[in-house]
Amino acid sequence: MNVVWCVKNNPFVRLLMGAMKNSGCPITLNRHVSCENCKGRVNGGYDPETNQVVVCQNTAVKSSTCCSVLAHEFIHAFDACRAKIDFDNLEHLACTEIRAANLVHCSMSTAIFEGDAGFNNIKEAQKECVKRKAILSIIMVRQVTAEKARKVVDKVFDRCWNDLEPIGRRCRRKSKDPEMAYHEGYLYGYTD
Ligand SMILES: [Zn+2]
Repeated sequence: MNVVWCVKNNPFVRLLMGAMKNSGCPITLNRHVSCENCKGRVNGGYDPETNQVVVCQNTAVKSSTCCSVLAHEFIHAFDACRAKIDFDNLEHLACTEIRAANLVHCSMSTAIFEGDAGFNNIKEAQKECVKRKAILSIIMVRQVTAEKARKVVDKVFDRCWNDLEPIGRRCRRKSKDPEMAYHEGYLYGYTD
């Protein structure tokens, strides 16, 4: 029942659900979210054919993992809703993975913690984090080499990196940014 907890308590998840509703693709938990046992190390996925988000109940055990899986996959669902993206097109896939990494996973503090950042190149570190995470995500869902994934990520990076909808900012971990983004959501009609 982690999913229900996230929907009630996680500002990212709530913001994204509000954005989906506003974009004409409201999320109904029974219809659009399914909890399954998955093979391998994946935590979740998005199936564009059925417009369904899968949360792997055997790997996304902690509520924090569950919420970040939901937020990540909702970015894909949001992109599918607003842009009719083609998930078989590697550039489209790279773009939505860049956005999910940028908006959900990568934060200043993780990048510093992982050692890619001095204090002078925090932005570069965030970019490296996003690239690395996006490449990993692409390799998980498509049979392509890391080199090919990196090439396509580099090609579309600037455009997709600068597209912050519907969060409006890159959130720093342990900051108030997610809450602030949520509270500003009403400005764009995403939340009540
Ligand atoms: Zn993804």
